Amino acid sequence: MVTRRLDKLGQVRQFRATIEERVEELQSGMANGCRFCGKEFSMDNLRDLTLDHDVPLEKLGEDLIDNIVCACRRCNSRKGSKKTGAEFLTQLEMEAAA
Ligand SMILES: [Zn+2]
Repeated sequence: MVTRRLDKLGQVRQFRATIEERVEELQSGMANGCRFCGKEFSMDNLRDLTLDHDVPLEKLGEDLIDNIVCACRRCNSRKGSKKTGAEFLTQLEMEAAA
């Protein structure tokens, strides 16, 4: 995976660029599904694909490509901006076991 620092001003443009990279991965069949629920993305549900900071910026996560994961909209909004990916996965496991 490419590591690239996103500067403050270039952030949105770079974020779009990473979505375009994801589309290329989808087209070549290499993209992963949602990091959290495993939902698979295709060209038909691409609107459901979001990019999420695995370690939130609020928790000093870095704005680097390596800290960005694919998530579906539902998981992204449920995870919010406070939990890390690992914490959210633990929450999902506890819900599944309940
Ligand atoms: Zn999901």
